[in-house]
Amino acid sequence: MISRQRYFATPIPLWECEKCGEVVLARPEDCYIDPTIDKPPVENCQKCGGHLKGCEDVFDTWMDSSISPLYNTFWHRDEKKFKQLYPMSLRAQAHDIIRTWAFYTILRCTLLTDQKPFENIMMGGFILSEDGIPMHASLGNVIDPLQVIDEYGSDSFRCYAASCALGEDNPFRRKDVVRGTKLLRKLWNVQQFIGNIIKESKPEKPEKLQDIDIWILTKYSKLVKKCTKQMDVFDYSQAMKEIEYFLWHELADHYIEMIKGSIYHKENVESIRYTLYTVGLGLLKLFAPIFPHITEEIYWDLYEDFEDDASIHVSTWPEPILIDEEKEKAGDLVKSHIAQVRPWKSGQGLALNAPINATTTYYPSAENIQRIRPSGSIIISTLKYPEDHEFREGKPNIEETITAVEPVYAKLGPAFKNESQKISQWIKEHQNDIIKIIENKGDISISEIPGIKVTKQEGLLKGGYIQVKKEAGLKGKKGSIILSFDGFYVELQRKKS
Ligand SMILES: [Zn+2]
Repeated sequence: MISRQRYFATPIPLWECEKCGEVVLARPEDCYIDPTIDKPPVENCQKCGGHLKGCEDVFDTWMDSSISPLYNTFWHRDEKKFKQLYPMSLRAQAHDIIRTWAFYTILRCTLLTDQKPFENIMMGGFILSEDGIPMHASLGNVIDPLQVIDEYGSDSFRCYAASCALGEDNPFRRKDVVRGTKLLRKLWNVQQFIGNIIKESKPEKPEKLQDIDIWILTKYSKLVKKCTKQMDVFDYSQAMKEIEYFLWHELADHYIEMIKGSIYHKENVESIRYTLYTVGLGLLKLFAPIFPHITEEIYWDLYEDFEDDASIHVSTWPEPILIDEEKEKAGDLVKSHIAQVRPWKSGQGLALNAPINATTTYYPSAENIQRIRPSGSIIISTLKYPEDHEFREGKPNIEETITAVEPVYAKLGPAFKNESQKISQWIKEHQNDIIKIIENKGDISISEIPGIKVTKQEGLLKGGYIQVKKEAGLKGKKGSIILSFDGFYVELQRKKS
């Protein structure tokens, strides 16, 4: 369909003879013209001399828009540019106009140029209202993107947009815009940290990289490989997830925490500086298509002095640096060690950098102890173990001891009524006596509590009237506490009181 009967659109530049139907086209140099107003190039019909009437139909809107790749590549306006730009690499559009915009464009451009107009079509979905209903002015559920951008900034808004997979309709999710703001702040802070270490000069690749740097460079290189594949097939939403995960959960939470001690003690600085620069700039390039503004800002702030590209958006896509599977496994063990001990520390009300008197780490796996030893100092400095902390192979000989006894009110109340108050008071006041009796006899009887008039001879432990708290320690070693984690044990030495 070419024509439509509407008031507003592009007029079709032709006249028809009222008598014989002969068609007279406008001369190209006269276009655009409106044949209902403008005169035809000839006075009357050349065939029969009849009166020529201007066409009142207008072009179907897709006839106009199907020219967009030709217009954008300077077709018939600049042949040099046209040759360079045509066919275009990508048409981005939604799924509702496949039959119209996509098909009209393909047909028209192919007829005019004998070539396809673009290599790929990227098919986006619709953005729905927050409750998943299509937006309609009449429903009053229209979200104005400009207001969202005013409130959160365009890069945060793009975080939501990039989280919508290709071809899927998505409700608007404000939480993903907020997530974007947090992500941008994290990216900014991590880059400022890197900038403070890099300072005045671009780091050279050192002769030897330390193991933990090889670990993060391996993770980074795998990320680059994966994202490149995903971006090549326009799977930007999955790519963003991967980059985001790397930023938070490999780089910021772990690698940066691990190297803080080395930076403070000025150890392995060249290896760390090279790693931070490489990963920092590469990460920025991976994020650049998704967050074009903040990445350019950071690029100019921190990297442009050392790089040849005038903008991050004309720089080359990052390449993998190195992949070392063995050192990746070792680094994962270091990360897992820190990731497990850290919540234990915060559970004890200790800051991550508060010292703890951990004397020994035990790894039952011989393979793992070999892997973790070279990076032992990283664990020691990150978790603030003592300098002489040892990493040993094997499983510690664990012995459990009771450290406290607590009355269980919910059981005592119904069983002993008026006496229950007295019993629980006595339990609280005689911790050491109770622990000794339990250790010797396995339980303590109600009748052993003085001044209690009860007929029951039940054991407190067996009856569930008390709960014991246990602590694991090294067998035969006083004051030793053993903490069990997934894959390893840490021995602490209780401070002498
Ligand atoms: Zn005629």
